[in-house]
Amino acid sequence: MTVFLPWFGHFGDLVRDVLPWIWVHYQPGDIIGGNPAHAALYPAVPDSRLWAPVMSRYPDGYDYGIRPDVLIEDLRHIAQEHWPRANLRAWEPNGESYPKPAIALPEPYPVDVVLAPRAKPYADAKNGWPWAALAAEIQARGWTVGLAGSRAESVDVSADVRAWDLDAIGDAVTGTLRLLRGARVVVTLDSGIGHLASLVDTPQLVLYPQRGDERRSLVLRDGMPVTMRFADMHRWNQRLCLPVWGGIPETIAAIEEMLTRMRVVPGSIDAWKGRSVSSIPGWTKPETIVLREPDRSLVMRETGNDLIDTAPLDDRPTPPTAEEIDRRRASCLTCDRYRPGNDQCALCGCGFVIAERIRSPVARCPGGRW
Ligand code: SF4
Repeated sequence: MTVFLPWFGHFGDLVRDVLPWIWVHYQPGDIIGGNPAHAALYPAVPDSRLWAPVMSRYPDGYDYGIRPDVLIEDLRHIAQEHWPRANLRAWEPNGESYPKPAIALPEPYPVDVVLAPRAKPYADAKNGWPWAALAAEIQARGWTVGLAGSRAESVDVSADVRAWDLDAIGDAVTGTLRLLRGARVVVTLDSGIGHLASLVDTPQLVLYPQRGDERRSLVLRDGMPVTMRFADMHRWNQRLCLPVWGGIPETIAAIEEMLTRMRVVPGSIDAWKGRSVSSIPGWTKPETIVLREPDRSLVMRETGNDLIDTAPLDDRPTPPTAEEIDRRRASCLTCDRYRPGNDQCALCGCGFVIAERIRSPVARCPGGRW
């Protein structure tokens, strides 16, 4: 018998990495550790005794700034106490790729556009995207809006239906799955709900600041570069997965195109990428045609073709100049968040000393001073 110890990190990693691993290795009678409110995602209901210490350490959800400390040992101890002869396993990255988990999917709930606002209780470049304004623009065009995810991350966002109103008590994921299954298009950041959308093959748009960001590592949390996982979403989604670059106008234009005039056709990208959309059999103006392969899509418009590649870009950010380093140092030394005793920033919550941070090509000041 195996006990799968709970994953308590980011939800996106749970969906894209941990669940596929569990579903491949699970045998009837094994014990699952995980959030019981996410039972719909697992092959068996998670044992709440293994989740209690996680809730106690992260009562408001996972926060990378709060160290797990003895949580892992606590979880092992609890598992050994209840299942002394079990084999304990915890997911860790090993470069292996597993198939999509065979989750039993609930009935779709029809809605035009599902949005997945994201707001974390720590400094993060994904916080603050103008979801409320986007929802208002969508509704003003007569499309219905559904909100996926959690109530706490969608405060003040107007909607026609909310995932948490479709959930039974103690369930925090079935409503989101129903909306994703019923949506004509879902708009997310590079986030856990984006991976869930790709798992259930909802036509999806994934937001990034600039073209190419979907293929890079971006500085999201407190100076830490994080690899974007658009390629993973694109590979899983058997229907349609495209990036959007920019803000509300670009997103509305992409939603409008996907809802009203975009069609996916089978075919080889190499065979069609140099040709005009008008040569596609059955094409009618002003249709946009998409050909998709696991690692790229070709978007064919009257205005020209756009190849959406997902292979990583290895352009590296430029290190700061000596003047920029001096400017950063001066900002920190005069900042009330600066802790001279250990040369650290009280706002960052990370272990880097300021002497290192100010030289980093990817670090930023979480207070916005540099
Ligand atoms: S908040 Fe910004 S300026 Fe202040 S110590 Fe931290 S990194 Fe330096």
